[in-house]
Amino acid sequence: MLGMGEVLVGSEEIREKVREMGERITEDYAGERLLLVGILRGAVVVLSDLMRCVELPCDIDFMDISSYGSGTSSSGVVRILKDLEEDVAGRHVLIVEDIIDTGLTLSYLKRSLLARKPASLEICTLLTKPSRRQVDLEIKYVGFEVPDVFVVGYGIDYAGSYRNLPEIRALEPEAARA
Ligand code: 5GP
Ligand code: MG
Ligand code: MG
Repeated sequence: MLGMGEVLVGSEEIREKVREMGERITEDYAGERLLLVGILRGAVVVLSDLMRCVELPCDIDFMDISSYGSGTSSSGVVRILKDLEEDVAGRHVLIVEDIIDTGLTLSYLKRSLLARKPASLEICTLLTKPSRRQVDLEIKYVGFEVPDVFVVGYGIDYAGSYRNLPEIRALEPEAARA
């Protein structure tokens, strides 16, 4: 595939990590019913793999959000394009995200969901870029830390493409221009 960068996280590594996260979630929420909330569209892939590793009764729901602000920088003010179908009051909610960068989007989303009075609210993300963080955000389950490069694959896109790659790759500038 022309211009694709190096593999940062291979598909077997992802499979193993998702299985580990599923086991931890299964233990941490033992005896509870869980509501997994995937953030569209990138988290669809990790959510669908993760839920099959969670041995608990669980529901799934989705939100689609868009960050106000120009270009690639996140402003932290989030517009909800598609809200949850489920009422989260009194529920154990676990937000499932593909990648957390500045943390502004999830920090805003967390505050907005907390106002709906869930029994608990935690975050699970496949990837995080700690060097980019602008706010203090508690993330209970993290798959992998990645450097400050633009990544694609396993649900994560560039202009809608590459979501179907089974691994996480860095996108090289020539591929981004293509
Ligand atoms: P933030 O944490 O900065 O508020 O925003 C996180 C969002 O930025 C992610 O959900 C994703 O949409 C986007 N993002 C951050 N880093 C990358 C990356 O390396 N590649 C892609 N495709 N999107 C990214
Ligand atoms: Mg996302
Ligand atoms: Mg995107």
